[in-house]
Amino acid sequence: MLEAPADYRFNLLAMTSSDAKRLFKQQIIERDNGQCRYCGCTKNLTLDHIRPKSKGGRYEASNLVAACRRCNQSKGSNDVFDWFLAQPFFNQDLLQSFT
Ligand SMILES: [Zn+2]
Repeated sequence: MLEAPADYRFNLLAMTSSDAKRLFKQQIIERDNGQCRYCGCTKNLTLDHIRPKSKGGRYEASNLVAACRRCNQSKGSNDVFDWFLAQPFFNQDLLQSFT
């Protein structure tokens, strides 16, 4: 998969910016097996910045995971480690996949 929405846009010239963004989101969700990377649920999936945008995290595949709306909102701009440690679905192996 490509790294950022703009890569899709320039890869396929006919694609609009919003189509590129939609395809990009779909690819991240497919990469994450159609599940929230945090709690594993499959509903209301969004893209979450592992390193928050407010802390300089980029909108790139390596910094994005599929996350359900609930996890995304709950995590907010907290550090992923601090937030994930406090969750009932905390899992050490999963935590390591975020680094
Ligand atoms: Zn979730």
